Amino acid sequence: MISLLFINATILITFLYLGNQLFENNILKMNSSIIRQVLLGLLCGLGGCILVFYGINIENIAHIDFRVIAIIISVIYGGAISGVITTSMISLFRLSYYGVTIPSSIASIGLIVVLLFYILLCRFNLVFIKKFSIMFLLNILYGVIVYSIILSKSELLFKIIASYVIATLIVSILVYYILVYISKTNQLYRKLKLESTKDFLTGLNNVREFDNILNKIVNNTLEKQESISILMIDIDYFKNINDTYGHSSGDLVLKQLSSVLVNCCRNFDVISRNGGEEFTAILLDCDCKHATQIAEKVRSSVEKHHFIIENNKHINITVSIGIGSYPDSVKNINNILSEADDALYLAKRSGRNKVC
Ligand code: GH3
Ligand code: MG
Ligand code: MG
Repeated sequence: MISLLFINATILITFLYLGNQLFENNILKMNSSIIRQVLLGLLCGLGGCILVFYGINIENIAHIDFRVIAIIISVIYGGAISGVITTSMISLFRLSYYGVTIPSSIASIGLIVVLLFYILLCRFNLVFIKKFSIMFLLNILYGVIVYSIILSKSELLFKIIASYVIATLIVSILVYYILVYISKTNQLYRKLKLESTKDFLTGLNNVREFDNILNKIVNNTLEKQESISILMIDIDYFKNINDTYGHSSGDLVLKQLSSVLVNCCRNFDVISRNGGEEFTAILLDCDCKHATQIAEKVRSSVEKHHFIIENNKHINITVSIGIGSYPDSVKNINNILSEADDALYLAKRSGRNKVC
């Protein structure tokens, strides 16, 4: 029994790992699409069939397996559709592999009743541990009732029920801990992924993501022979704002400026905070003339905007903008960034609040 218990636990761990990989570290996302629900139902169904196959045989009169745990995972993460698919697969496999007998029919009917309870339970907004514990108790109840009906006359009834309860308890605790572990590592993975690409203050792309995107866009632009422009935007005398109103007011200005930039550019342009008070906008399929219009819109919108800082005060700021444009102002697309930087320097030197 110990070795079969070990095999079953290994099957469950393997399927949980595979499922997590298949669903891109997002198996635990509750509102999945229909395709994901079907896929999850099929995966849990396959896992459930293997669990039935490797079930623990007790004295050749009873069969203990962990198919209900596959159904629990399916219903919790995939809902009713997933649960119905998993339960149907397991029931069909059980009936076709072991034959349609009275015990197997009773077990299959019991499984459908358990599934209905699980689907009903998922409609309540319960925390994970409560939901899992209630499902576990229903699983135990299912086993006790089914074995009591099938083996009512057997002297081994008590031994079989005790084995079922102990084995199910061990495997359920293991599965619970693995699910919690997967949930935590998935959350951390998504958080790290987000933080590695986004600027924490404004939510715009950070400089690393800007570099990645620019490389891809440069290749695309050359392939399609399109034009591309970059605006390099820097707040004028930003140090004074920090010195006068404090660093947190400066942060508020940076956040609001990011919204102004998003509103002024087109929704497919790529806006990033490249560091400090310096931002960029990659304007796709945009020649120098159009880029100048967008840059001028940014400049004048910033100038007119009332930035709210601490203590509900309003201040006004200005920005200087340098434009690099391929193929209008640079013939080598790889120089577009340094061209925009030079233009920004020119805008600063020639009085600020300017587009060059
Ligand atoms: P210029 O017109 O020449 O661009 O002058 P400037 O004062 O804007 O430029 P400078 O490079 O002298 O100063 C930039 C300031 O931006 C200094 C720094 O304290 C501030 N800064 C950089 N990052 C942040 C940030 O995340 N939050 C805040 N509040 N300030 C920041
Ligand atoms: Mg500045
Ligand atoms: Mg600067």
